[in-house]
Order: sequence, then C-alpha cells, then structure tokens
Amino acid sequence: MPDDDSIPMVDLHMQYQNLRVEINDAVQDVLDSCEFVLGPNVQLFEQEAAAYLDCQYGIACASGTDALHLALRTLEIGAGDEVIVPAFSFASVAEAIAHVGATPVFCDIEPYCFNLDVAQLENLVTSQTRAILAVHLYGHPADLTTLDSLCKKHGLFLIEDCAQAFGATFNNRPVGGFGNMGCFSFFPSKNLGAYGDGGLVTTQSPELAEKLNLLRNHGSKIRNRHETIGFNSRLDEIQAAILRVKLKYIDESNHKRRIIAGAYNDFLDSASVVTPSEKRNCKHVFQQYTILTEKRDQIQNALALNNIACAVYYPAGLHEQTAFRDICRAGPLSVTERVCKQCLSLPMYPELDHTRIRRIADVILSTV
Ligand SMILES: *Cc1c(COP(=O)(O)O)cnc(C)c1O
Repeated sequence: MPDDDSIPMVDLHMQYQNLRVEINDAVQDVLDSCEFVLGPNVQLFEQEAAAYLDCQYGIACASGTDALHLALRTLEIGAGDEVIVPAFSFASVAEAIAHVGATPVFCDIEPYCFNLDVAQLENLVTSQTRAILAVHLYGHPADLTTLDSLCKKHGLFLIEDCAQAFGATFNNRPVGGFGNMGCFSFFPSKNLGAYGDGGLVTTQSPELAEKLNLLRNHGSKIRNRHETIGFNSRLDEIQAAILRVKLKYIDESNHKRRIIAGAYNDFLDSASVVTPSEKRNCKHVFQQYTILTEKRDQIQNALALNNIACAVYYPAGLHEQTAFRDICRAGPLSVTERVCKQCLSLPMYPELDHTRIRRIADVILSTV
C-alpha cells in the first residue's frame, strides 16, 4: 500500500478492497471450474460488454494492442495501404498498423480535446488510404460525425481506438459502435481494467465478427479445422470473470471520474493552466485528467516534493519515435509538438477524495 500522504496516479488497492469479496468469489468459481480459456465467462462478458456498448458483437482478445492488430487484419489492410492515425497517442496504434505491413500516416490533433484534427485529415487522404484509426484520447470521443462522413466520402474504414474510453458517449451513444470496428483495452489501469492484459473488438457486422472470431483462435472454429492463418489472442476466463464484476460498476466509476474532473476544474479555475474541455455532444470519462501548462517542469517538481504523482502522456509525437520515424508519412504536426511539451496528467481514479484533489490543486496554484 502507498504511504498515507502520497498520492499515486492510480490506486488499484482501494478499488480492489471495495470489490474484494465479489472478485474473489468470481475468481474462485473459475478455479473450481478448471475452465480457463474461451469458456462461459468470456462468452458472457462478450455479450454483456457488447450490450452495454450498444454493439451487435463483442469479441474478446488478449490485449488492446491485439484488438487493433486483429481489427486491421480482419479488414484486410496490409502492405501498400495507408492508415491515418493521430501522431499524439500511445505507440500501439502505430505498431498495429506497421505489423500488418501498412504505413501509419500521422495527422495533427485539435488543441483542446487532443483528438484527430478533422480539418487537416482530408489533406492526408491518398489513393492508398484504406482506413482512419481514431483514438478517443484520455476518454474524450473524437468527432465521429465528421469522421464518418469523411470515411463515406472517400470509401475508408473507420476504426475506433476506445482503449481509454469505455463508456464515453458521442450524441448519447457509447463509442465503439460508430466505426467498422471498436478496439478496447482492459490493461489494469484503464477505466475498465482487468487484473492482467485483455482486449475487446466490437462491431455491428456479422461477417467481421466471424472473421475476428477465427483470427483470435488459430483460424479455427471447430477443433482441428483451421480455415485461415490465425493467432493465439484470447482473453482468459479469470480476466473475463473479473471484468464481469467490474462492468457492473462502470457507470458509477465513470461518474466519479467526472465529479473529480469537475472538482479539479473548479479548484484550478484561477490557475494559469488550461483545464480539459468537453464538447457539448460528448461525455468524457476522464481516463486521464490532463492540463496544459508552459510551466510543466516547475509543476512536476512541486508535485514530486509533495509526494504527488503526475505523468506525461505523451512527451513525443509518434512521428518522432525511432520505431516509426522512417516508415511513416506525416502532415504538419505543430499542435502535437506543442501539446507534447505542455501536457501533464494529474492523479485520476474513482476513489480520489476531495481533500486530496484540493491538496493537488493547492500545490499547482502555489506554483503557477
Ligand atoms: C492502452 C492503450 C492501448 C493498448 O492497450 P494494451 O491493452 O495495453 O495493449 C492502445 N491504444 C491506446 C490509446 C491506449 O491507451
């Protein structure tokens, strides 16, 4: 357990203590059943998550990165193809594109919600472009109306990276059901997190669901019959059982994140930092609470002196990463480059109390 006066970015101890009995029982049931892979919990979780997300199909897999990779494979995106993706995101979006042999084309972001800049995006479309991979960064939905019309106009697939946005809504509908495929991560620190790795792909298309189902399990639906060259990318029963418990509380925990964000916004109102925005037709779920500040180093140092964690997601655009620098194409990325220098994510988890939020805000107020 962390020291009493330190504040971590995420506190999984408190969350587990609150759900301990229910989670222990769910795990014990799996152990007693000795069904560990692709059993009843995975099937029920897929159904329950798809229903929650307003999607026809949910196919669980081993991680959020695999969800992206399998989604691209399912859409048969590969060598010679281009996929447009924000330059300001976690590396796994570009990894997944590179793994299928396609080229990541990095687009700039909008300055306040940090998602794809739809105004620049259309300039990046070429005859090679096959898909847009939109990331709902920090838990705020990308502009799905404009992305949908751009995809229709240019005949592109839309893939949603919902790894930070389980339960976020756009025009009152959960993200993940707007594009051809939605990709979720259940890494432990995500707003819906397992106790290990896990992922999910959502879709409204029976054909895509069927292909994905094959790909995640060695191309096989019937034992010893392999219809396509697949992968081993399955969610395990223990993780699925834990996720079924946590799914029951996702509305409550997303609501608490929003209350915490509101408290931060109020406390930081008079500070010379930019607090996060929320567009009118969007519901942000605050996987991260991220401010912009020109005094990032000073704030980081002051927080550290007070035993308060903070983090920079992300210090560099993906176009600057050694892994992708030589294989990508990119538009002008001035907003990405500025936000990389100014962004700072503050502690955010549903159990973060008012006293601690006040303490964090006070340190910032006395620094800037
Ligand atoms: C966490 C994350 C992923 C990757 O998920 P894993 O389950 O860790 O593989 C992909 N995209 C974004 C935006 C993420 O935050």
